[in-house]
Amino acid sequence: MKSAENFNELHTFPIVETFYSLQGEGFHTGKAAFFVRFGGCHVCCGWCDVKESWNPHVHPRLTNEEILTEILAHEAKAVVITGGEPLMHNLDELCALLHAHGVHTFLETSGTFKFSGTWDWVCLSPKQKHKPLEENFARANELKVIIAAPEDFAWAEACAVKVQKDCILYLQPEYSVHQSITPLIVEYCKRNPQWRISLQTHKFIDIP
Ligand code: SF4
Repeated sequence: MKSAENFNELHTFPIVETFYSLQGEGFHTGKAAFFVRFGGCHVCCGWCDVKESWNPHVHPRLTNEEILTEILAHEAKAVVITGGEPLMHNLDELCALLHAHGVHTFLETSGTFKFSGTWDWVCLSPKQKHKPLEENFARANELKVIIAAPEDFAWAEACAVKVQKDCILYLQPEYSVHQSITPLIVEYCKRNPQWRISLQTHKFIDIP
């Protein structure tokens, strides 16, 4: 079983970027939140739009307290921890600190590492080329499967049988092919109404 690798040197994390914006996709679309993008990802999706995040060794490092200070400087007391793959790092202490200051913690993960941290919301976005740990499907509040080609619907269904009954199911068009694939997702959701479509609205309204 994989566990978080020892990237927590000196109790700091490699951080690609931080920004205050609106959640663009999934269940919390439209809500203001602070975003912290962690460095490090070994999934290496061909269509990844944050490839600069993959190498965990090239980013500035922040402490838990520095991350907290940035979050508290903004109005919304909610943080989206994203990447990269945040669970490459042990997030127990960071989440404890954030919760102690009333910050809601939202996680975006591929689920390929053992969980750490405590989360108010978990978005699991499984990838076929590097599948989640089986135990992590049960942690998902929302399952977000990227659809880049028609055969991805079968992958989405294979994942959906592994999540909890109350997990919200999303199909999201891969952005570079969204014009051709979105109509297929619309028809799929009409035929299979347990699924919802998720759009990357931040890209349509040009916010980070
Ligand atoms: S899992 Fe996410 S961060 Fe990692 S390569 Fe895929 S899209 Fe990029």
